[in-house]
Amino acid sequence: MNTEQLNTELEGKDAESIIRRAWETFGPGLVFATSLAAEDQVITDIIARNKWPIPFVTLDTGRLFPETYALLAETEKRYGIRIQVFFPDRAAVEAMVAEKGINLFYESIENRKRCCHVRKIEPLQRALAPYRAWLCGLRREQSVTRAAIQTVEDDAANGKVKINPLAAWSEPQVWGYIAARQVPYNPLHDQGFPSIGCAGCTRAVKRTEDVRSGRWWWEQPEHKECGLHGR
Ligand code: SF4
Repeated sequence: MNTEQLNTELEGKDAESIIRRAWETFGPGLVFATSLAAEDQVITDIIARNKWPIPFVTLDTGRLFPETYALLAETEKRYGIRIQVFFPDRAAVEAMVAEKGINLFYESIENRKRCCHVRKIEPLQRALAPYRAWLCGLRREQSVTRAAIQTVEDDAANGKVKINPLAAWSEPQVWGYIAARQVPYNPLHDQGFPSIGCAGCTRAVKRTEDVRSGRWWWEQPEHKECGLHGR
């Protein structure tokens, strides 16, 4: 079955059915890349509750909020899982910082994309390398750059199949699930951070603003992807 057929079959299905079908289709070739966002915590809860042996991976960019590290530890403890952490290449970070400075990302889109490449994209490629497909917590509502995502799509940048079980979910659905199941979540969400990334590149937003508006707030909305979800 190709990606398009699988997407047609799963579009409109509930998240649990989508993840189950992904596991049946890809087996040990399936991984979940979590950033510990609210959506990712929902997917973690579904995987753990069903005891599917899907491995968890995450990225430590070296610039995360302390609250994110605390949530990583809390999530592992709550579900009795290990989330494999991938770090950036030390030499690449050192060379970048030596050339451009520690906060290079404020100076240009080019610098910001270079930092995201070194700290996120290359480590993600390493994390995904052994797998054929990955689960991801993207939702269409999140931003203009995500409005067209499919439940199952080809991830050409990484040469994988990407499965977005929450593609059609609304924000209230995510928070309803978290409340009902007492899923651990990042306390920064209660302090005006709907989307949480690296500390230097994320700020609180007003309730009326787009959920991704606090990420790279100095850039235009159409540039606001780090390359992890290139389309
Ligand atoms: S979000 Fe900011 S600090 Fe994090 S990798 Fe991208 S540019 Fe670097």
